[in-house]
Order: sequence, then C-alpha cells, then structure tokens
Amino acid sequence: MYKFGVDVGGTTVKMGLFDEQGTLLEKFEIPTDKTEDGSHIIEQITKRLNQAMEEHDLTVEECMGVGVGLPGPVDEQGNILGCVNLGWGVFPVEKAFSEQFHGLPVKAANDANVAALGEQTAGAAKGRRNVVMVTLGTGVGGGIIIDGKILTGANGGAGEIGHITVNPKEEARCNCGKHGCLEQYASATGVVRVVKNLKSFYPDTGLQEECSAKDVFDAAKAGDILAMKAVQGLGEYLGLALSFVANIVNPQAIVIGGGVSRAGKILIDEVEQKFQKYVFRPCRNVEFLLAKLGNDAGIYGASALIS
Ligand SMILES: [Zn+2]
Repeated sequence: MYKFGVDVGGTTVKMGLFDEQGTLLEKFEIPTDKTEDGSHIIEQITKRLNQAMEEHDLTVEECMGVGVGLPGPVDEQGNILGCVNLGWGVFPVEKAFSEQFHGLPVKAANDANVAALGEQTAGAAKGRRNVVMVTLGTGVGGGIIIDGKILTGANGGAGEIGHITVNPKEEARCNCGKHGCLEQYASATGVVRVVKNLKSFYPDTGLQEECSAKDVFDAAKAGDILAMKAVQGLGEYLGLALSFVANIVNPQAIVIGGGVSRAGKILIDEVEQKFQKYVFRPCRNVEFLLAKLGNDAGIYGASALIS
C-alpha cells in the first residue's frame, strides 16, 4: 500500500509518495497557483498526484490516502479556518480534496504541526512519543505532539508557540496584532530587529545596519558584543517560552528547526541554559535537538497523518 504527503506553501506545493511504513519513494513539486482566491490549488494537486499514480502504475485500491499540511489552522472536523497566504476562506478542505481524488481518505492539519509530526515520526525526535517543535524562520511556528498525535485544540490554534507573550512591555506590534510575542525576538526578522534597536549602544560592533540573522550568529561566534547580546536575548525569550510549554506538556524532546536553527550549537546551548533556569524541576529532563528533515519535514509529517 502507498500514501501521499502534501505540503502546501505560499510559493510551492511539495508532494511525496510514501510506502505504508513511511519510506519516501519519490518527491515532486508544483508552483502554488493563487489566482482566483486559490480556487485551482486542490485541482492542480490532485492532477499531479494522478500523474504520479500513473507513473508508478498504482491503482486507487493501492492508495491509503493523502495527508495535507496547510498554512492555516485546521480544526478536528477537517475544516480550514481561513488561509490568507492561499486566498482561502473557511471550508471543509478534507472533504473537498477527497471528492476530487477518488474519494480516498484525506487528513489535513496546520503546516507547523505537520512538520512537528514529521520530525517525531521520521526525523530528529524519532522514537519519542511526546515532542515539541519550534520552527524559527521568517516567523516562529510551533507544533506539539502528545502520545504520537498532533495537539490540535478547539480551533486548530494549539502549539502556536511563536505568539506566546514573552515581553508584555514591548511597544512594537507583532504580525498577529499583539505586542511582545516570541516571534518578535526569535524569528530571523526578529533577531535583526533586536540588533537594529540596540545598535546605537554598541558603536564598536562589526555588524552593518542591513544584516541578516546569519550575519548576527556569525558575528556572535566571532565574539561581537552586540551580536552576542542579540543571541542571548533570543535564548532568554525562547528558553522562557519553551519552559511554559514544557511545564504544561512535559515533553521528552524539543526540536528546533527553521533557517535560524542553522546557527547550530551556539543557539541550542543558549536556549537550553535559559530553559533550565525557568522550567519546573520535574519537567527539566528534556533533549534539545536540531531538526533533521529540513524542507521535507512537511511531506513526511503529512504522510504520517494517514495510517
Ligand atoms: Zn504574535
């Protein structure tokens, strides 16, 4: 038997054909067509999946179904609750997808949650049942896996670690409309923003006005005081937010992924140290791991929705 994992992003749709055990057999992608409020997206995905079935000589009977990761909240009834990136409103996305794809089972979930499931089933945290993942990219995404299953919540909003308020005194506004969210400090844009705000206090810094998150981590490794301050600030806020999560769900492992995680050991060390400072003692025994699957976490996790 075979199954598909589909990861729908704002620019491309990544897809993978998997066997029943979750081994990736082939991956492929198409551009995301956002014209006419994204109304062609599902049709174009199913067309490409049908092409893959033909190429591999697969019958409908040999397909277990399709798991789909989407850049918006999905409730437990399989409705997408709006998705600005794709132009989608609220509709029963699993049902719509299944109707266009031979009536096969379709399971959808939020992309950050799906990435967490991917790392838990096939990546850095393979073999652990209770896992938290945080993705540090342009924004900060999060996913929580409890006993091998995604924690979805009443409105698909569980695991939104990036929008935990870590600094109630912050005056700048987060993309979500609040002030002082983790995302404002721990995303790639957040790290650069912190550097800009502090720059006038550190005239000797080697960092330029227009720098990237990678520049900041490289400068921190080389001993630049301003860069080190920014990385320590990230560690402080991320460690604090993860301690809140750990006090509630007591995970075995915390996986850190996304572009910013390429900073590697300097980031993990900083976060783990602060986490240990804030976490409740019985919840402190946590492995901190760097994500392994990169951009494939989405298709792996999506395929794991089908079993
Ligand atoms: Zn926010």
